[in-house]
Amino acid sequence: MSATSFVIPALPQPSIAVAGESKSFPVRRIWCVGRNYLEHIREMGNDERAPPFFFAKHADMIEPDGATIPYPPMTKDLHHEVELIVALKSGGLDIAPGQALDHVYGYAVGIDLTRRDLQQAARKKERPWEIGKSFDHSAPCGALQPAAKIGHPAKGRIWLSVNGAERQKGDLAELIWSVPEIIAKLSEQVRLGAGDIIMTGTPAGVAALSPGDRIECGVDGIGTLKVTIAEPE
Ligand code: MN
Repeated sequence: MSATSFVIPALPQPSIAVAGESKSFPVRRIWCVGRNYLEHIREMGNDERAPPFFFAKHADMIEPDGATIPYPPMTKDLHHEVELIVALKSGGLDIAPGQALDHVYGYAVGIDLTRRDLQQAARKKERPWEIGKSFDHSAPCGALQPAAKIGHPAKGRIWLSVNGAERQKGDLAELIWSVPEIIAKLSEQVRLGAGDIIMTGTPAGVAALSPGDRIECGVDGIGTLKVTIAEPE
């Protein structure tokens, strides 16, 4: 079915800035990997050998570098999770790991903001994680670096600080499931497409945020991202 006009105004296309380009990257879907760094799995008390699993955020939850993000509703335990973001220029179903990087447009640093108390309460009741993970402003993302310029980094420091004090640190070399493995595994579940982004999991050191906190994070060789947490809306 196609429509040429709509009964309410068509919605704006969510997008991510591209470093050094005036054009931006249109976002279709946001996928996130549940657990992907050993130290973080240990700090959360989870199984170190479980296969990767995925959850989603919505494209309009993206926030740009420099954003001021209101402290979200219903939580008393908002956590930061700094992550490598992979952006796809094409996709498919059942992508082989050996072909996976051909689908990557570029890389960025982002934060998987998490209402930890709500996530853990949902987990205890065997309910979906959605209430803990998928909320307004929950996916801040820095500018993309095209793979055509920087290649496909498999190592590099990933870090996050709050008010100038380091909270999270790791290295892309510590990813349990590599980017090609993540793309291959996720494409068994859904047909991936151009505009999809994947948040690839967080290293150890996740912790709570408060209104007024200034977050700075980055992945060496890819870029940085700064956001501020504000009072609730
Ligand atoms: Mn995460």
